Amino acid sequence: MKKLLSLGLVLLTIVYAFPLAYRAYYRGVDATISQEDVVSAAKPVDAPANSASADPTDAPERSDAPTTDGAAQTTAASLPDSGNIRVLVGGTVRTMPLETYVAGVVSAEISPTFPAEALRAQAVAARTYAVHKMRTGGSALPVHKGADVCDDYHHCTAYLDLATQASAHWGKQAETYENAVARAVQDTAGEILTVGGKPIVAVFCAASAARTESAKDVWGSEISYLQSVESLGGEACPKYKTEVTVSAADFRKKVHDTFPSIKVDGAPATWFKASARSAAGGIKTVALGGVRVEGTAIRELFDLCSTNFTVTPSKDAITFHVTGYGHGVGLSQYGAKYMAEHGSSYRDILTHYYTGAAIQKLSDVK
Ligand SMILES: [Zn+2]
Repeated sequence: MKKLLSLGLVLLTIVYAFPLAYRAYYRGVDATISQEDVVSAAKPVDAPANSASADPTDAPERSDAPTTDGAAQTTAASLPDSGNIRVLVGGTVRTMPLETYVAGVVSAEISPTFPAEALRAQAVAARTYAVHKMRTGGSALPVHKGADVCDDYHHCTAYLDLATQASAHWGKQAETYENAVARAVQDTAGEILTVGGKPIVAVFCAASAARTESAKDVWGSEISYLQSVESLGGEACPKYKTEVTVSAADFRKKVHDTFPSIKVDGAPATWFKASARSAAGGIKTVALGGVRVEGTAIRELFDLCSTNFTVTPSKDAITFHVTGYGHGVGLSQYGAKYMAEHGSSYRDILTHYYTGAAIQKLSDVK
């Protein structure tokens, strides 16, 4: 069974990771990788808000009801007007109200069973991410075909078209969940996170480890509001602790195909050496076959849930033990859930995860 699972993971990695991650990030990598020129993942401004949460295993359990606090229910039809956004949905550019788009992102990216304050925090982060894209040339990106954002979670954020997909996505709870999301969007209508009066890159992830990662440690760029902060409650995420086992043959093939210069001969116990970790515990770089490779590259190569991992080699395989789910930067969704359950407001949550950020009305932001 374990072998079957491993094979499945390997196949999944080949099917998904190669075309998506490697074509995008690693083409052209040659024999000159060095510590100064380690392979990079996406840069922050181009980073997807959350490359991990649009996973079917994060779908809400249908028996759970969303938190309600007695307020009147809000429907999608009564969302406020904060202007329009152009969204590439399934390859077609559609213009829609910004708040409709935000509701679609919240629906796709976080469980609507989470507490209301966590959903509100997610709504503000999603709105901020979208506004940042709108104001920094998202429409000039060729892959967007003129749209400000796209519905590819590898590139921007996932998006659920509530008008056509809510029932298929949520089943009998669709109306309840849609209302919970709509309320979170309406309660925070037009609010975005700013630093220095500008919308921030409000990235988020499913669950960080005990501390979030800084943008500097993951992407190499110092960003004042994306620092490492304490984050509790991540272990409630079903994928907080995961394992991936790769056979020696598959490991060698993948490494060879992606980094032809790296030789991983010999026993698995000799492959990884001298890892450098961030303060939050993620692998920044590790020596693989004597060559420095970024933790983000290893994560993508083996489809790991995060860069926070240790390895256990055996005679003919290697097992990754991974903590956290996602890049670990910015808002942790399970951290937001934990804070909400312990009395924090969405404002507390957002200012905790985005260091020094203010919450402003879009209409007040130039
Ligand atoms: Zn995009």
